[in-house]
Amino acid sequence: MKFKGNLHVHTTRSDGKLDPKDCIELYKKQGYDFLAITDHYKLFPYADEYCDSTFTVFNGCELNYDFKNPNKSFHIVCLEPDDDFVPNRNITPNEATRDIVNRGGIAFLAHPAWSLMSFDDCLNLQNIIGIEIWNHISHAYSRRGHSGSYIDVCAASGKKILLLATDDAHFYDTDHFGGYIVVESPSLSKQDLLQSIKEGNFYCSQGPEIYRFEREGDIIVAQTSPVASMAFLSDALWAPDRVQSGKDGKCITQGIYTVKPNETYVRLECYDQEGKTAWSQILYL
Ligand SMILES: [Zn+2]
Ligand SMILES: [Zn+2]
Repeated sequence: MKFKGNLHVHTTRSDGKLDPKDCIELYKKQGYDFLAITDHYKLFPYADEYCDSTFTVFNGCELNYDFKNPNKSFHIVCLEPDDDFVPNRNITPNEATRDIVNRGGIAFLAHPAWSLMSFDDCLNLQNIIGIEIWNHISHAYSRRGHSGSYIDVCAASGKKILLLATDDAHFYDTDHFGGYIVVESPSLSKQDLLQSIKEGNFYCSQGPEIYRFEREGDIIVAQTSPVASMAFLSDALWAPDRVQSGKDGKCITQGIYTVKPNETYVRLECYDQEGKTAWSQILYL
C-alpha cells in the first residue's frame, strides 16, 4: 500500500505559526497519511495521541548546528528516538547523529543548499539515512530549495543515501504542501512506515507519481504518471538518452535508459507540465 507524508514541519512548540493539533488537521484534510512534528530542539512526545487508523504522527525534532565562523550550518532532522534521548546543542553534528541512531531513531540532513554547506560537509556527515533533495520553505522563501548537486556528489562518491522531500513549513502561507514522500508499506503503523522508510521504499514528489524505476539487464525502465519529460541522472558525464521528452508537447509515461560503462548509479527525476517534479531513490549499479 502507498502512503503520503511529510517528515519535517514546525509548530508553535518552536517557531511555527500553527499549534500541533491544527497542523495535523491541515495535513489530514489535504489527504496526507502521516506527518512528523519536528520543532527545533523540541521533541513531540504526544505524537501517539494523534495516531489512529487513518493517520500516523511521528515524534521528532530538528537540531540546528549553526557555526558563525566558518559560516556554515548543519540542520539535522531526528525521528522517533527512544524516551531517553535529549536534544543537545553542545555536541558536534556527527556526535548528534550517532546519539540519534544509538537511541533507535532516524537522522537525515535538511536543506544543504539553503544552509550553503560544502560538499565535504555532506560527505563527512555520518549516520544519516538521507538528504533532503527538496525543502519547500527553502524554495518558497529563499529560492534555494533544491539540493540535487549534493545528492549527485554523494552518490558519485559511493555514499549510500536516500532522497527526501519535505515542506519544513513554518508559516503555512506558501511554505506547505510543496514536497512529500510516498512510501510503499504493508500498513500505516509507525513500525511498518519506519521500516519501509529505512529500506528506501519510497519516492519524493511535488505531484508526479513514480510507479516503477528498476534495472532490467543493460537498461533501466521508468514508469510514471503523465509527465512532460524525464531525466536519468548519473555519474556518466555525457549520456545522449539522459533527458527524454514527449513529441509535440505530448506527455510520456515511460522512459528507457541504457546503462553506460563505468556508471555507478542512476536516479530518476520527472517533470510534469506544471513544472512539478518527482524524484526516485538512487539505483546503485
Ligand atoms: Zn532547518
Ligand atoms: Zn526545519
